[in-house]
Amino acid sequence: MTKKDKTKKDEEEDIDILICARPEELPEVLKKSIWAKCHQCGATVWVSISGQKAMKKSDKLKPFCSQCAFAKVQEAGDETEEIQPVPGALEELRKYISQKKLH
Ligand SMILES: [Zn+2]
Repeated sequence: MTKKDKTKKDEEEDIDILICARPEELPEVLKKSIWAKCHQCGATVWVSISGQKAMKKSDKLKPFCSQCAFAKVQEAGDETEEIQPVPGALEELRKYISQKKLH
């Protein structure tokens, strides 16, 4: 009987990706960001405020560093629609980075 195994596998695959920046990509602390560990590789990543809020709403949502998130998206190939980055989180990051570049 492998009923139990199937349930476990389903749980593991039922994960949403929260794309987070690694410290080397974002050396300066984003306002009120917290540290988290990449669900895939264990690297330290920043979780922005919108990311923190999203994680509170969904237990399925796990922080992934940008590299692992990118790898996951590529791995998924045609099924990329299943991977939906949290709205706002990435934009927040991009906005921050572009602001930095202007100065
Ligand atoms: Zn990672």
